[in-house]
Amino acid sequence: MAETTKYDFNDLTVKLGGNKMPLCNFCGTCIGLCPTGALTPYYESGKPVFDASKCTRCGLCYKHCQGIRVDFAELDNTFKGGKKYDKYIKSYNQCYLAHSGNDPVRRKGSSGGSVTTLLVYMLEKKLVDGVIIPRPKPDQKWLFRPEIVTDVKTVKASSQSKYCLIPTNEILNSLKDKKGKYAIVALPCQIHSIRKLQNEGNKNAKKLEYILALICGHNMEYGATVFGMKKVNITKEDVIDIKYREYADWPGGLSFHLKNGENKGINFFNYHYLNAVYLPNRCRLCPDYYGNYSDISFGDSWLERLLGRGMNEKGIPKGWSSIIAKTDKGLALLKAAEKDKAIHLEEIEPAEVHESFPFNISYKLNGIFIRLKFALKKPEYIGLEKPEKLDRYLYHFIYNIILVSGSSKVFRFLLMLMPLNFNLFLIKNFKKLMGYKPNARDHILKYNEKSNIFK
Ligand SMILES: Cc1cc2nc3c(=O)[nH]c(=O)nc-3n(C[C@H](O)[C@H](O)[C@H](O)COP(=O)(O)OP(=O)(O)OC[C@H]3O[C@@H](n4cnc5c(N)ncnc54)[C@H](O)[C@@H]3O)c2cc1C
Repeated sequence: MAETTKYDFNDLTVKLGGNKMPLCNFCGTCIGLCPTGALTPYYESGKPVFDASKCTRCGLCYKHCQGIRVDFAELDNTFKGGKKYDKYIKSYNQCYLAHSGNDPVRRKGSSGGSVTTLLVYMLEKKLVDGVIIPRPKPDQKWLFRPEIVTDVKTVKASSQSKYCLIPTNEILNSLKDKKGKYAIVALPCQIHSIRKLQNEGNKNAKKLEYILALICGHNMEYGATVFGMKKVNITKEDVIDIKYREYADWPGGLSFHLKNGENKGINFFNYHYLNAVYLPNRCRLCPDYYGNYSDISFGDSWLERLLGRGMNEKGIPKGWSSIIAKTDKGLALLKAAEKDKAIHLEEIEPAEVHESFPFNISYKLNGIFIRLKFALKKPEYIGLEKPEKLDRYLYHFIYNIILVSGSSKVFRFLLMLMPLNFNLFLIKNFKKLMGYKPNARDHILKYNEKSNIFK
């Protein structure tokens, strides 16, 4: 403990790269751990705010910041995954294709509505006392922050991915007054800090009985959401709710619900490819795609063989989730939900999980080593395994330059002047040029690109 007591958040800020904190991705851990309220969230900027007068230099924030340090060796040694092993997924029990057994939940979900279904199932079966998910901030409804939710209706209304920075781990603070068990939906980076805390016996983290990960290629700064608002000529004040996977047919798109009752938005891929411009720096340096330390991880499934299944009248499939049951507890939960017909599961091999996102496997799990090599400020990773041979060195080298220069103010300004699909056009063709074979996602992209861009 003596080691940690000498730090305060200013020391941490230096490690995070100075005042702009490029290694902070607003996971919320420091806020959730600060015993005196010296750290509070500034949601819009995606950074914590520090009040030095309240800081007791306990060092908790410093010690648990996943932005500056992740000990993968320790996480691997302490994590109790299943007996199967895959070089990207690491230890796991079983992979599935899945969708909710409830059709409206499936249709409203990001992929198969599987996360919502399991959260509802856990509440109904009283396996947990509440679930922790993002909810709109009451006074600024275009921003999200974590909440403990205990009613099924709110869980159902909160489905879909939020592709923006949400300090999920700030909830650790609220858990201190709560008894019971909780399920949390979190991103891989947030789970690194949660598992470290659980390993140390942190009482609040130990209340998190089920950890559900959203597989994560990258997140986006709120600037991307604001970009979308500007493109459809609305302001933050007009917005009463945001859905990131709703506008148009599945896979949906960024949809703004307005005070005047209207809906405006942009399609999925036009929003999605803004990642090259609004990617938080720390996400660029993250090596965990599959949420390797969760109980269950969830992602989109984009398999060619699913294109003929679950089609609706427009020829667009209803979503399917890829699911990885990591721990025994996660597997038991899935099997119980399947037995009660809450969820539909089909066993698959890891190869079909990887097939949905060949680009992300290459970018996140190989390209990371190239990006780390050239990063000026980088997190300290202990025990991060490197593949024997790196995939597409040149591509990742060039793409890294695009990501760094894309986030400049000048590029963001220029992009605003260009047609909405300019960025999509660039990235899509760059990927083609580098030899990525189109998959089901690219076929749907063709349809999605043309559908409902603006109204
Ligand atoms: C930033 C981000 C990046 C992603 N990248 C990929 C990717 O590269 N590849 C891939 O296969 N999948 C990715 N996903 C996951 C994918 O978008 C779906 O969330 C996942 O397939 C689950 O879909 P579902 O229909 O089962 O979930 P739903 O039934 O729609 O439920 C989703 C649940 O997650 C909660 N939630 C949404 N966003 C967040 C968040 N940011 N933090 C915490 N909880 C949240 C919702 O409130 C809801 O309860 C990403 C998700 C996010 C948020």
